[in-house]
Amino acid sequence: MATEISAVKRAPGAAPTLGAHAQHAAWQQRHVPDVEQVRDRVWSVSTQMPKSALGYTLSYLLETDEGLVLIDNGWLGDESWAALESGIRASGHVVGDVSDVLLTHTHIDHHGLSRRIVEASGARLHMHRLEARALERDIAGRQVDFPRWLEDRGVPFEDADALMGELGSDSLRREVAALPPATHEFEDDDRPIGALPGLRVVFTPGHTAGHACFLLEPEGLLFSGDHVLPRITPHVTRPPGDKSDPLTDYLDSLRIVRDLTVSEVLPAHEYRFADLRGRVDTMLAHHEERLDEIEAATPGSTWEIAAAISWARGWDATSGVGRQLALNETFIHLTHLARAGRVRRTGQSPDLWEISQ
Ligand SMILES: [Zn+2]
Repeated sequence: MATEISAVKRAPGAAPTLGAHAQHAAWQQRHVPDVEQVRDRVWSVSTQMPKSALGYTLSYLLETDEGLVLIDNGWLGDESWAALESGIRASGHVVGDVSDVLLTHTHIDHHGLSRRIVEASGARLHMHRLEARALERDIAGRQVDFPRWLEDRGVPFEDADALMGELGSDSLRREVAALPPATHEFEDDDRPIGALPGLRVVFTPGHTAGHACFLLEPEGLLFSGDHVLPRITPHVTRPPGDKSDPLTDYLDSLRIVRDLTVSEVLPAHEYRFADLRGRVDTMLAHHEERLDEIEAATPGSTWEIAAAISWARGWDATSGVGRQLALNETFIHLTHLARAGRVRRTGQSPDLWEISQ
């Protein structure tokens, strides 16, 4: 549920802001960046992500007169917990000072340490109402017939096992079941922290159903979570069986943040950057190209179309969870094209996509 590097070809990235030189250098060298003071009363703290090419999660600490506000935390594990604790200490505080944990979304690299923080500090745990509902379903254990979903996408029987990855594994189920539910839910445009009235929710569904960014208005700082990152395009997926059109949500959410007045973007991975509008335009163009490519590769099953389009490392080198995500991403784009009337689905199991006449 947490892998986010898109397997699609990378579009050109955004340049780091001047003050993010050290963070950018760490990203280039595949190190975990040091704790940094980003602005007066705003800190960036990094925690490592094991087994992920992303390398680390960037969390943000905001000092208020009533305690520390922590935006996102880190991967579930002792190592990342130790990094978060020492990062908070480097800012001159302790974990017990955290009064509020704000989540952009509940993937395990953003929400993995919430339980330990709440237990150590009694902090309130905030997330968007729709993210809270999705998390409740995850914790309860979704009843997903994943083998059936693969069959419906046209995956050959002999390839299906390799695509299952960790889905449904006991260890993943246990980790997800240990994620704490929200104590406070916010809505679009809310200002969830009383001691920080300048901090506004910007609802940005797409990467997840309830993803939110936070805008610190006086300074023009956008805490963008995984919605906008300087180099990579986040995965836009939904669990098998979900009938929504998340790519439409995601593209609409990109247009929403594009026009905000923002001086610096503080993402949850990679490094800080300034040119939000330029980055969003690049990402929108990238998805348009991808949609054109997928339309041009139609007709076929989702599996056949996924195998026919371009991938960063080539389809043949994509395996396991990477290939599962690639298949899901192709399916999401086809669903979007069908909503737009550009393709239609004539078969169901396996699905067969054709160009709309
Ligand atoms: Zn993430």
